[in-house]
Amino acid sequence: MRFRAASLPAAAAVSLALLASNGAGAQSTDPVSTGISAQSLRGHLSFLASDLLEGRATPSRGQDLAAEYIAAQFRRAGLEPAGNDGYFQVSDWKYAERDMRQFAFTVQAGGKTLNVPASAVDLRVREAVSLKDAAVVTMPWLEAMKDAARADGKLLVLTMPADRRAAYGDLQKFTGKPALLVLVDGSRTQGSAANGWLVEEGPPRPRDAMRSVVLYDAQAAAALTDTGADARVTLNVPGPVERAVKLRNVVGVLRGSDPTLKDTYVMLTSHYDHLGIRNGDIYNGANDDGSGTVSVIEIASSLAAQKTRPKRSIVFMTFFGEELGLVGSRYYGKHPLFPIKDTVADINLEQIGRTDDSEGARVNAANLTGFDYTSISDTLQRAGKKVGVKLVKHPVNSDRYFAQSDNQSLADAGVPAHTLSVAYEFPDYHGKDDDWDKIDYENMARIDRMVALGLLDIANNRKAPAWSAVPNAAKYLEAAKKLK
Ligand SMILES: [Zn+2]
Repeated sequence: MRFRAASLPAAAAVSLALLASNGAGAQSTDPVSTGISAQSLRGHLSFLASDLLEGRATPSRGQDLAAEYIAAQFRRAGLEPAGNDGYFQVSDWKYAERDMRQFAFTVQAGGKTLNVPASAVDLRVREAVSLKDAAVVTMPWLEAMKDAARADGKLLVLTMPADRRAAYGDLQKFTGKPALLVLVDGSRTQGSAANGWLVEEGPPRPRDAMRSVVLYDAQAAAALTDTGADARVTLNVPGPVERAVKLRNVVGVLRGSDPTLKDTYVMLTSHYDHLGIRNGDIYNGANDDGSGTVSVIEIASSLAAQKTRPKRSIVFMTFFGEELGLVGSRYYGKHPLFPIKDTVADINLEQIGRTDDSEGARVNAANLTGFDYTSISDTLQRAGKKVGVKLVKHPVNSDRYFAQSDNQSLADAGVPAHTLSVAYEFPDYHGKDDDWDKIDYENMARIDRMVALGLLDIANNRKAPAWSAVPNAAKYLEAAKKLK
């Protein structure tokens, strides 16, 4: 069944219309839309993206506080708890972390000793490193790539070329075996890599496979790359210490009303983690992905308040660990709380608060990754028309970003799953200034109205969304066939 705004009583329609605040485009006066307010979204996000939560790193006390807050909002909305511990899907992990107080990096050159602070490096090495007065081999980039073996067993210093993407491509093909690689990077002055990781996530990613230290300290870099200075390096990178941690996906369900369809599930998801504290700065992650998380809360609250339940059940879920590589959603994919074969769709929300897209202002519009992959784009387009939001296909990022967020974990299992965003790239992306006062809340409320109406459409339709026969979706279509 499609959602019909006409079923609203006339008196309510008038008073609710007064609440609709967008000046231009279509205004929606149905009860689902009017249950979603910019002010409510602002209230939730000003807490979740506050400094108190310290950037919600996986794992951290700030993240635990965020999880408890989300659970409290699901409780307030009246969702059924759906985790293994109330609203929490709790999982056990080992976290490895090094004590950077023991870090030391000195460069001796031309009779001077330079101390490099920990804040001026990114460590792309997981185990302990101990070098004492190590001699340095410096080579131009291209020469090093051609003559890879020349620095085997030694400390190799290379200056990163301007084209960093190409440089990391080169490094993946680099066959040399230096004892350690120091990459001089003049594009920044401070590092930002984390000094902890989840042990179960296995070995470092490909571009980090070589033991390397990225150096941002200009003075030390100059001393190391001055071939006449005869530089020597003393370096102590402490080894990691492991501890047990518990991590939580937060999940509640709005139980469906149809005797058969209630045992099928539509998911609305986001990730509630972010980058935490780096070099003393709190990365609040208001848009990434506080915006998606407060939208899950707000849409849950609006849909749960409706007199009529949807036919299918709707699952509201926020994941930990997206920033570490979709860890929370991958965990869910391996340990689903509702049968995957009965899960008909996932709409994942990412970065839906900022309208200052790097490609230009983006108001009353949203992107969907994998736009052509399933029938869900049609459903959301119809919903968008009712509330004045245009769902568009980004010519490049629709495909490129499909695997970049938590929808991927569900898609791999065969569930039609997309990520919806307003801006793919915005000025403070993964920066310390992604703050809650920069969000366009009126616009975000309109996006959420579209999502809520789209979710209801899917939940009330006997026909479930399906993968399309397009080449890029072929492997997901295959996975879906296996579920039957
Ligand atoms: Zn994100």
